[in-house]
Amino acid sequence: MIRNGEAPPVGLPDLGVLRSRWTEYRDTRTTQRVEVHGVEFGGPRRVVIAGPCAVESLDQTLSVARAVREAGGQLLRGGAYKPRTNPHSFQGLGIEGLEILAEVRRQTGLGIVTEVMDPRLVEQVGSYADMLQIGSRSMQNFPLLTEVGRGSLPVLLKRGWSATLEEWLCAAEYIMKEGNRQIVLCERGIRTGCLGNHADSVLDLNVIEPLRRATPLPVIVDPSHSTLNWTLVEPLCRAACAAGAQGLLVEVVESDVDRSGLRCDGQRGVPPRILDRIVAAARETGSTELLRRRSG
Ligand code: PEP
Ligand code: MN
Repeated sequence: MIRNGEAPPVGLPDLGVLRSRWTEYRDTRTTQRVEVHGVEFGGPRRVVIAGPCAVESLDQTLSVARAVREAGGQLLRGGAYKPRTNPHSFQGLGIEGLEILAEVRRQTGLGIVTEVMDPRLVEQVGSYADMLQIGSRSMQNFPLLTEVGRGSLPVLLKRGWSATLEEWLCAAEYIMKEGNRQIVLCERGIRTGCLGNHADSVLDLNVIEPLRRATPLPVIVDPSHSTLNWTLVEPLCRAACAAGAQGLLVEVVESDVDRSGLRCDGQRGVPPRILDRIVAAARETGSTELLRRRSG
């Protein structure tokens, strides 16, 4: 722990005013618990959020959700509003997608994590979601952060793909300063200058330990978006757990799906048989305590 006037130890960010504010919020040596639909982030059990990239139909979402529940995944993800690089790509089903998520929650009992991109839609999306996702592209949409901060729904705050640890924590602070401290941070890969065609971004597993030491907020990892190929997702999940992740966010497709027919991130989703293995690995891969404490 850093005391007043001491320089931070090597490897720890100097968070200045953020640290003093967070000391008010909570002792940063312990993780704050964030509860979503009866599921607890930041406790001894890793949380697996899983589901399709986008809600494409009731049948598809329900079938994936059943696979998630059978695998032991605790929360369902799925986008009704999709942040797409190309404006001509599928943008999500919008309100129809939210209605589908509500029906799937009713039928499976799984809590819903879904993205909101527009501050004007926070109330609408929030009336269907159990947790609001702020995507990588929106991490510095300050009006959006402020709006979700005024509400009481838990927030999954993804890292902007070019954000430093400090910038990411400042984004969290935009939410907390409005009163909402129910935030889970999600590493999802960062862009570097040396990426060839093998990946979309580099999953920054280095960030987990310093991040957990810098903030009381729980930290999870999404290994689905950095890779262009679902076969890499399981090993990256294992690596993330070993590096201190307190949960995972994983994209899932239906068994025997025609990937070319999917309207969003078709090559990234793992089939249910791989999700089974990922959930088992998340349970088996040791404690969620900080590494230094674990190694004495
Ligand atoms: C997603 O979760 O489907 C997504 C678009 O993620 P990101 O914002 O990390 O790119
Ligand atoms: Mn996706």
